Amino acid sequence: MVMGDLVIEVDVAVVGGGPGGYTAAFRCADLGLETVVVDAGTRLGGACLWEGCIPSKALLHVAAVLGEAERAKEFGVDFGAPRVSLDPLRKWKSERVVGKLARGLASVAKGKGVEVVGGTAVFEDSRSLRVEGDAPQKIRFKHAIVATGSLPAPLPGVSLTSERVMDSTAALELPDVPERLLVIGGGYIGLELGQAYAALGSKVTLVEMLDGLLPGLDHDLVQPLARRCEKLFVKIRLGTKVTSLREEGALIEARFSDGDTVVFERVLVAVGRRPVSAGLGLETTRVRPDARGVIAVDDRCRTADPAIYAVGDVTGEPMLAHRAMRQGVVAAEAIAGRPAAFDNIAVPAVVFTDPEVAWCGLTEPEAARAGRKVKVAKFQWAASGRAATLGRADGLTKLLADPDTGRVLGVGIVGPGAGELIAEGTLAVETAITIEDLAATIHTHPTLSETLMEAAETLLRGT
Ligand code: FAD
Ligand code: NAD
Repeated sequence: MVMGDLVIEVDVAVVGGGPGGYTAAFRCADLGLETVVVDAGTRLGGACLWEGCIPSKALLHVAAVLGEAERAKEFGVDFGAPRVSLDPLRKWKSERVVGKLARGLASVAKGKGVEVVGGTAVFEDSRSLRVEGDAPQKIRFKHAIVATGSLPAPLPGVSLTSERVMDSTAALELPDVPERLLVIGGGYIGLELGQAYAALGSKVTLVEMLDGLLPGLDHDLVQPLARRCEKLFVKIRLGTKVTSLREEGALIEARFSDGDTVVFERVLVAVGRRPVSAGLGLETTRVRPDARGVIAVDDRCRTADPAIYAVGDVTGEPMLAHRAMRQGVVAAEAIAGRPAAFDNIAVPAVVFTDPEVAWCGLTEPEAARAGRKVKVAKFQWAASGRAATLGRADGLTKLLADPDTGRVLGVGIVGPGAGELIAEGTLAVETAITIEDLAATIHTHPTLSETLMEAAETLLRGT
């Protein structure tokens, strides 16, 4: 690394230190490539660690504890009304959870010899970029990996700027527990953060412009979650848009497409995320993002420019941290000349609500759209011993298999712990296991994992 005149020369420059970027950088270093990460925040972790996966799951853990305490009344245990102190809660989330993981990432980077440069990276051509910030410098690279992630999408047609109108980043700061919270968007963030705020005591109204929560996902998986949300939220308005937001003193007045107006202390906008590729100087390279800002990549994460790779949210859907990480490994290995490819069949997805919803591989609506014949098994958790001991008969495990070969094509699970249980389904789909293998595999009793085996047995028996 040459640093004399503030020009760094490296094998690989990674732009963005989120899960895609840091995973790529660590793998590059393991493969003997001299690697630098440029991050606008001068830190590793990206949206996932600082304003996404981790803080949201910390808040959802608190929500789950509150939910369990409430449910305990069913079997005669009453803890009384919970008292939530926001300062210790924020401190625990930011310091004990996020801070600890951040220190861990920084020390791994140090151990591997990966330098983290703070500043905004802008490409000057296909071999160099400049870093704008407190200590401007230039980086010459043999290869670059763009891992600039995504940012919250604004609410179309509504221009109000107010600290009471939050995106997910602001909501995760937990400024207070508003008495009434309007959540706009019934996708991942709206449902996760809506439930977290509801558990803490907010009266939550959720608006979703399409006709169901988690639109497009298998209805069987969404239904138990929708039922729970109906209890937790004061109102769910489907097929509805917010047409205007107006500040009314310390309140926000929302007007809906059905003509209603309602006031709220705070609003959370969660209508999707957009890739970050503008302002990166990509016009000086051969990379051309599409109209939405997505950078197209092939199965080795190569862009249209032979020196530039891209990974993570900037490459489009699904915008999930574990996909970004897998792409990071693939890009690093491809640069090192190894035969790696992002040829995964199953990218699992989990909505960490109560109940959790998880799926991988083919879903029933996708099979229907593709006109693909599948065998489907649904195992209701009402028949699971473990679910009964947990007081959670509301779950469902669903299997999709190829009618000719018996190969497991897709798995969907809704219920507590679905996010952990889906790992077995993902392995089954990825390794082309058959329903016979799944049914013949001994699963510990009594566990929720048995529901996968039971679903497979249902298919074998043809019942
Ligand atoms: P990011 O994590 O977005 O990181 C990009 C980095 O690039 C940032 O640090 C940014 O500062 C930096 N950067 C951008 N432009 C430049 C530039 N020009 N120069 C230098 N640096 C730059 N996914 C899951 O799988 N599970 C979850 O539970 C989950 N929960 C989520 C909850 C919330 C509230 C949100 C918002 C997202 C959640 N996600 C979850 C999605 C997940 O956070 C993203 O998929 C993931 O962070 C994408 O990683 P990435 O590396 O592509 O980019
Ligand atoms: P999303 O795409 O999951 O959901 C957005 C929802 O908003 C959709 O249901 C959409 O129909 C609705 N919508 C769009 N415009 C609207 C409007 N004008 N009025 C009302 N509703 C509208 O997006 P998100 O919840 O913002 O999350 C962004 C992304 O972050 C997710 O797609 C996911 O990739 C990632 N994420 C993942 C997790 C996880 O893995 N558990 C958690 C949070 C976020």
